[in-house]
Amino acid sequence: CGIFAYLNYHVPRTRREILEILLKGLHRLEYRGYDSAGVGIDGGNEKDWESTGRSIQLIKQRGKVQALDEEINKQQGIDMDVEFDVHLGIAHTRWATHGAPSPVNSHPHRSDKNNEFIVIHNGIITNYKDLRKFLESKDYEFESETDTETIAKLVKYMYDNRENDELSFTTLVERVTQQLEGAFVLVFKSVHYPGEAVGTRRGGPLLIGVKCDHKLSTDHIPILYRSTGKDKKGCTALPRVDQDTSLFPTDEKAVEYYFASDASAVIEHTNRVIFLEDDDVAAVNEGRLSIHRIKRTAGDHPARAIQTLQ
Ligand code: GLU
Repeated sequence: CGIFAYLNYHVPRTRREILEILLKGLHRLEYRGYDSAGVGIDGGNEKDWESTGRSIQLIKQRGKVQALDEEINKQQGIDMDVEFDVHLGIAHTRWATHGAPSPVNSHPHRSDKNNEFIVIHNGIITNYKDLRKFLESKDYEFESETDTETIAKLVKYMYDNRENDELSFTTLVERVTQQLEGAFVLVFKSVHYPGEAVGTRRGGPLLIGVKCDHKLSTDHIPILYRSTGKDKKGCTALPRVDQDTSLFPTDEKAVEYYFASDASAVIEHTNRVIFLEDDDVAAVNEGRLSIHRIKRTAGDHPARAIQTLQ
């Protein structure tokens, strides 16, 4: 089971290049073992989005990454040469725990038929049955047997019931993770937050590789703590953070980010990585990476350093 995501910000990439990077990342994670694989990328063409709206395309297959590669090549009507200046692609190899290996049980999982939100997950959500029951009572229709699909539905439920339009992708994901029990590494993508990535972990590995030509603005990253006001059954709002930590103010400069389960998938692109810790929520927005830690007590403030891999 492995997670790989690639975000290019002001680095033009064709869809073909993006898919190649994603599949290469999955190949590097193959040694971890898996039974299926999938990717989620932007659909259509940037030029048409104004009239058609944004879309997300999912391609999933049972078996080897090679089988996914073949499935991608079989897709009709995908323009491989269309270029994206800003794009997030997410990719996953699955080791089935809930639901047999099959295309529909493969990741990414989606919030709805329009793919408004998609998510990749490593781990197990132990309270998924309760969550699924709750979401089914709200008329969410499930298509897979996985624990993961509840996360995709839950994020849409919380988005649709947001108190205002200012809700950030990070806050949304933090609210979702408050409801989850078990172990998880997650990366989210959404048509509502184009060009943004949010990843988080609890009980599994996740790191972020950063590649850019300009000097990074800081090598040490303060971690912000917040109390959660956690209420497991209801969906309580988290207290807002009163300051934000922007790690890499880009000033519109080009930057690429790689989210991965393992450094072996990132090292060919960059050796500057940040290893996330449990309850970190990392988000890339407008080319800037910021990391918050939730659910920890104040006073415990390790500095987060960018490490150089040997
Ligand atoms: N529990 C999830 C599933 O069965 C994720 C498994 C994994 O870590 O790959 O789909």
